[in-house]
Amino acid sequence: MISKANYQKVLADLAPHQTQLVAVSKTKPNEDILALYQEGQRIFGENRVQELVPKQEALPKDIQWHLIGHLQSNKVKYIAEFVDTIHSIDGLKLLKEVNKQAAKHDRTINCLLQFHIAEEESKFGLSLEKAQELLRSEAFGNMQNVTITGVMGMATFTDDQAQVRKEFQALKSFFDQLKDTFFADVDSFKEISMGMSGDYAIAIEEGSTLVRVGSLLFGSR
Ligand SMILES: *Cc1c(COP(=O)(O)O)cnc(C)c1O
Repeated sequence: MISKANYQKVLADLAPHQTQLVAVSKTKPNEDILALYQEGQRIFGENRVQELVPKQEALPKDIQWHLIGHLQSNKVKYIAEFVDTIHSIDGLKLLKEVNKQAAKHDRTINCLLQFHIAEEESKFGLSLEKAQELLRSEAFGNMQNVTITGVMGMATFTDDQAQVRKEFQALKSFFDQLKDTFFADVDSFKEISMGMSGDYAIAIEEGSTLVRVGSLLFGSR
């Protein structure tokens, strides 16, 4: 069951900032996704390839699918034909594979560099140094089938709002530094993917352009 009221509330919160919504539908059935689709939602996010593939096959073809969870290189081939944006690029090896598989389908895949901003060690992601190294590499310079459209991060799971805000500010500052150094004249580098059900309001205040909201729309998992 989706909450239309929460959906409208989130859209209203995002509208003044022109922030876009990725509706995170992981673990939820196709009928729930269709219900939100019928409300007008077109961008959906999934965190597992095994779940994304059958959903993409079954659901309307004008859905823009975003892969938001950790991605193993050997699974890129299953989504390369259709995925719009991958939020979880955390190394050159993965990016190379995305580029290679996208080329096979004569497509360009949008990619966000995922940063480690949380205190928890378990969360994946790059440091600023690693991201700079990747963007300076010759291998990256030769890639024709990926577009780096921005950055992504997940804040610590905590009630401490000051902590969450600080982490979002860190991600914004990584975005700004990469923009200055590598993408000053590149309009497509514009996305800051941050904010989930519990912290999207803070994320918007700190400059999020894409929030990834699941349980607020679809109910708890
Ligand atoms: C599940 C998930 C979300 C959405 O989380 P909610 O708390 O349900 O809004 C956002 N981003 C990532 C990477 C996720 O895995």
